[in-house]
Amino acid sequence: MKNLKACKNCHLLTDNDVCPRCSLPTSKRWSGYVIIRDPDHSQIAKKMNITTPGSYALKVR
Ligand SMILES: [Zn+2]
Repeated sequence: MKNLKACKNCHLLTDNDVCPRCSLPTSKRWSGYVIIRDPDHSQIAKKMNITTPGSYALKVR
């Protein structure tokens, strides 16, 4: 997970410099992550407004 970057907008973890989902720059400065498999039934996903399964950073600076 070390080399991954997180999108500042949707918190999606990716190894791209730009988020594949929102086309916004990603940041190396993130901490904690959560894997969302079923956004419809996940409290965390609702809290973070996540609607698509994937790996997400909890905090992005
Ligand atoms: Zn994004």
